[in-house]
Amino acid sequence: MASVNLESVSVRYPSGAVGLESIDMHVDDGEFIALVGPSGSGKTTLLRTIAGFLSPTSGRVAIGDRTVAEGKTFVPPEQRELGMVFQQHAVWPHWNVGRNVEYPLRRAGAPKTERTARVASALELVGLAGYARRDPATLSGGQRQRVALARALVARPRVLLLDEALSALDEPLRDHLRLELHALTRELGLTVVHVTHDRSEALGLADRVAVLDEGRIRQVGTPDELVTRPASGFVARFLSDATLVPGVVDAEEFRADGHPLRLSRDADMPAPGRAHASLLPSAIDVTPDHDGDAVVRSSLFTPEGSDLMVDWCGVAVRARTHGIRPRVGDRMRVAVGRALVYPDAEPGAQAPGDRVGSAGKPSADDSTDAVASARSTSFARA
Ligand code: ADP
Ligand code: MG
Repeated sequence: MASVNLESVSVRYPSGAVGLESIDMHVDDGEFIALVGPSGSGKTTLLRTIAGFLSPTSGRVAIGDRTVAEGKTFVPPEQRELGMVFQQHAVWPHWNVGRNVEYPLRRAGAPKTERTARVASALELVGLAGYARRDPATLSGGQRQRVALARALVARPRVLLLDEALSALDEPLRDHLRLELHALTRELGLTVVHVTHDRSEALGLADRVAVLDEGRIRQVGTPDELVTRPASGFVARFLSDATLVPGVVDAEEFRADGHPLRLSRDADMPAPGRAHASLLPSAIDVTPDHDGDAVVRSSLFTPEGSDLMVDWCGVAVRARTHGIRPRVGDRMRVAVGRALVYPDAEPGAQAPGDRVGSAGKPSADDSTDAVASARSTSFARA
């Protein structure tokens, strides 16, 4: 196994598009890291840069002690000793399972007897013992992904790279493979970089999670750190459905723009100036009240209680309730417990007010922007 190190890695595409912007990241030997972020945030670019399918425009990539990309140094993918699994199209349909799994060993020129033994053990590892002669067309999607995993593992890679490897599978198979992947990689002590857009998968599987946005790492930490101490409103919203409310901090309190939300100053509050409050669903208390100033817009059942979207004076707030499931249209009263306030100017912050206002409409990735959707026509009051 090996560690992975990226130092100030930037990637620009020939089109001028920014793939990555000055990424610093260290993955320990044997560590399981998940890269998570919205579509287009740079996850695949980062993985392909580690794999050697892309060359960084600047910066350094090292695997173990070996520099694999820096300036004129460039070690091609097949010499990096990595295993890789993609979302789909990973298994060649005209070869049987064994031949597919054997491929990296053939390329490396391993002798026949060794190939046969290692293919058998790789298939056993992924729960497909005895499948070597099967035609991939006769396998389920989950089984095909296991074949791809066996092929990635057969040459005993130093690092396993997964790009949305489970994303094309349906639940509950996906959930099942998630557990298997975790068990397998932990037993083998593999270094894993797992790319997913699925935040619960990232938080569930990884020792540490890196949150990407616009080619930058916004925060790296353990799942618990990311959920309890998000570094920015963006991270809180992306991972935990926090509602972001723009406003201003003065000497006494945070005051939301054109909205009753007030938060009195505490030690964590930033210096006076433009800011946004981040309200985690778990810290919001909604109770039925005929005179309440919030209205339920959606109410989803979950085993842990109702998952609500309430329109609170024009801001769409995500909240959870226990007990009787509220109905759409019910009036509620909202109480905010703990809230985190972030200055708009913090490095890497998404200033939600600016983001909506400056463009005049939400940008492509703004589908989860609670403030934006609260002000869009679908939430306007009749
Ligand atoms: P993700 O995997 O997080 O969805 P990507 O790494 O694929 O994101 O993309 C990051 C950014 O780089 C996006 O803005 C995307 O449009 C751009 N990009 C990705 N691949 C290419 C390419 N081959 N040519 C030009 N731009 C690209
Ligand atoms: Mg991708």
